[in-house]
Amino acid sequence: MTSSEIRENFLAFFKGKDHTIVPSAPMVIKDDPTLMFTNAGMNQFKEYFLGNSKSKYPRIADTQKCLRVSGKHNDLEEVGKDTYHHTMFEMLGNWSFGDYFKKEAIAWAWELLTEVYKIDKDSLYVSVFEGSEEDELELDKEAYDLWKAIVPEDRIILGSKKDNFWEMGDQGPCGPCSEIHVDLRSAEEKSKVPGAGLVNQDHPEVVEIWNLVFIQYNRKADGRLESLPEKHVDTGMGFERLCMALQGVKSNYDTDVFQPILKEVENITGEHYGSDPQKDIAMRVVADHIRAVAFSIADGQLPSNNGAGYVIRRILRRAVRYGFTFLEIHEPFMYRLVKVLVAHMGAAFPELKKQAVLIENVIREEEHSFLKTLEQGLILLDEVIAKTKGKEVDGQKAFELYDTFGFPIDLTSLILSEKGYTLDEAGFEKAMQEQKSRSRSASEVAKDDWQVVHSDGEQEFLGYDQLRAEVRLLKYRKISTKKEGTQFQLVFDKTPFYPEGGGQVGDKGYLEVPNGDVVYILDTKKENNEIVHYAKNLPKHLNDSLTAVVDAELRVKIARNHSATHLLHQALRQVLGSHVEQKGSAVHAGHLRFDFSHFAKMSREELDKVEDFVNERIHEQIPLQENRRVSMKEAMKEGAIALFGEKYGEQVRTIRFGDSIELCGGTHVQNTAEIWHFKIVSEGAIAAGVRRIEAITSDAVREYFQEKEGQLDEIKARLKSSGDPVKAIENLMEENTQLKKEIEALQKDKASGLKSEIKKELESLADYKFLSKEVDLDAGAMKDLSFELGQEEENLFLLLGAEKDGKALLSCYISKDLAASKGWNAGQIVRELGKYIQGGGGGQPFFATAGGKHPGGIKEALEKVRTLIS
Ligand code: ATP
Ligand code: MG
Repeated sequence: MTSSEIRENFLAFFKGKDHTIVPSAPMVIKDDPTLMFTNAGMNQFKEYFLGNSKSKYPRIADTQKCLRVSGKHNDLEEVGKDTYHHTMFEMLGNWSFGDYFKKEAIAWAWELLTEVYKIDKDSLYVSVFEGSEEDELELDKEAYDLWKAIVPEDRIILGSKKDNFWEMGDQGPCGPCSEIHVDLRSAEEKSKVPGAGLVNQDHPEVVEIWNLVFIQYNRKADGRLESLPEKHVDTGMGFERLCMALQGVKSNYDTDVFQPILKEVENITGEHYGSDPQKDIAMRVVADHIRAVAFSIADGQLPSNNGAGYVIRRILRRAVRYGFTFLEIHEPFMYRLVKVLVAHMGAAFPELKKQAVLIENVIREEEHSFLKTLEQGLILLDEVIAKTKGKEVDGQKAFELYDTFGFPIDLTSLILSEKGYTLDEAGFEKAMQEQKSRSRSASEVAKDDWQVVHSDGEQEFLGYDQLRAEVRLLKYRKISTKKEGTQFQLVFDKTPFYPEGGGQVGDKGYLEVPNGDVVYILDTKKENNEIVHYAKNLPKHLNDSLTAVVDAELRVKIARNHSATHLLHQALRQVLGSHVEQKGSAVHAGHLRFDFSHFAKMSREELDKVEDFVNERIHEQIPLQENRRVSMKEAMKEGAIALFGEKYGEQVRTIRFGDSIELCGGTHVQNTAEIWHFKIVSEGAIAAGVRRIEAITSDAVREYFQEKEGQLDEIKARLKSSGDPVKAIENLMEENTQLKKEIEALQKDKASGLKSEIKKELESLADYKFLSKEVDLDAGAMKDLSFELGQEEENLFLLLGAEKDGKALLSCYISKDLAASKGWNAGQIVRELGKYIQGGGGGQPFFATAGGKHPGGIKEALEKVRTLIS
């Protein structure tokens, strides 16, 4: 069975059991403060498990792109070393929201595996939660009995909380689970060692393929469990592992999911997969990581130096480093795998195909700069080694290399051992832990449980139509972070506050409380499909009816910038071409930022055209046409632009200004005229093939021009010319050049005059010529003059003194032969004389200088020098 058939059969099977098939949510999560990447199929349904809203469908099945590289589920260090953990993988899943429970979930899983996929029953093992004293939970007898009816008891394994109790995070919905494991070993091996003992023992051929989770509890902030009113089923089956089991191979990498990529890795490296265990690991790392990186970029997450972008950067770097060290590729190569990935997966994932060129460019550039970092790191490491006493290299130093330059620690270890050194690993670990706890405590959020005030009704967003509304508090909770201190999160029955999303910042404002107090709302965000308001304190009486008021001035500015962003997007596609894809946007009250794919720097002319295009739309006074509920199909037919990596429901909202139509949940002006004016303030690159424009509208444009005008007035005033300032500046510059030339000529004259003067004044002593003299030169000129005289006069001793900008300078020149024969040292001499000018100096035996803060002592120094050489 091919992998595509395996996927189709899964979905068809559950469709046959009345499940609605939904698309995969994006892998990169943008609007959830608690999660960076989708790490399980259930993520996109979190709000249903939490009871914040009700699923339209009681039964759902899908395949979900998952990434397990951070947070609670992090498999990164396993990947490549074993044959069945990936960074990015597909999770096949079926769900019941308050509908069927353990009985059906278990029976259907068994039916699918053994009857549809025809896996040999004898090679399957199942596990059941044994209970936990700490949580006061007993054996999951219900599941045990259900399994016992279909599987012999010696293939039912009891598992502890670690393996058989699934939790999304520290708090929230959770429950016991039953895993299904498959034993892929040969009959001979099976007869020697029974499979039951190998389950959950990290055996590469006895692996977990499916986890059936029975969500029936909620974990509270204090760690206690409470029973949920509704029980849910959440299952996840690793697609690549299932393919391994069904295609009769012993590694995920031997399935048709990975084979084409591995073949290409072989082509590029000239290595043969399967001939050297260390190289095999590297090849698996490369084949795995290219998927994670390419899919993330397709989802709109570029590598960067913080947050989700940094995680992606680290994955890519891990692959480059394995290639660098074990496959000996020292030039960009990962980008060359994009083609085969697209050829193979582009049909199922069109976002890959559409953005193939961008993905290639971004990866190539990223590889290129990391390889440069590696080179630099190698030089720095050499320096560290040179300074090392003994044979052990300081862990703190290695950590600095890792932390500041991104130089990988295992590469450091490897190089050190090649050179006969060892690494102080404990020191490195210590430095690493210290940094981790520093950054963790800065970002850690402690959350109390939600306190319910009113438990009725779903939340309503009123903010498209009004900025003020009577609201009731449904629930609140206290949170505390290092950065912000204690805050309260408030959820109302309805709200005019826009929660951060789609690039637009969250609203600020306040609550009017009946007794006349106000509670300030500092920010608004969406979490699990609820609008959460952040406040420093709580209203005194929680049951009061409150008036929620959005800061109207901020909101108006934000709306202008958001509408202008749409016009800018349209303008860029018009002026540059339809290859322009939005790659990110940030809409604030003061400015807007728009990132987009385009391969070259925009010319002045293009920028002008884009600005003109937007300003024309503003002057045309185009009214907003908003459609709050339209089917996705209908919207696409109208030509609406949807963004990659964005999650859309079946019903969407469209925002139209003339020919600009976008799917958008943001707030907008009623008419483009309200934007008043649009101005681009900067354009530049943020990654290979990705540009960023920053722009302003309305008041900010006026302020911008006012500031520029102020500068111009200032310039004119300083130029004291009423005419064209450009002409005046040109004149000034010309005059300046002329004057510089004159000064240079004058100084030359002066120096040559001085030189002949000095020559006349030289005192001829028995075997050398001597002069000490005060001159009016700077340090550079003194040196030049001394060396020139040294060229022309033999056996010269010359001490010059000068006062420059209130400081004293001395320079001492002694012909080399003279210094040698007399044993004089100019350095020592100026050091000695330094005391007269309250300073010090030094240099070489034949030339040295000193500086001091007491010019009054120059004369004395010039006199006293004779005592030093006689
Ligand atoms: P394991 O113990 O093997 O790491 P898990 O307990 O972390 O698995 P779950 O969180 O229950 O796995 O995920 C459900 C299914 O997803 C697993 O049964 C497995 O088939 C698959 N899976 C989990 N992690 C990975 C991964 N890193 N790569 C590929 N498949 C995975
Ligand atoms: Mg795991």
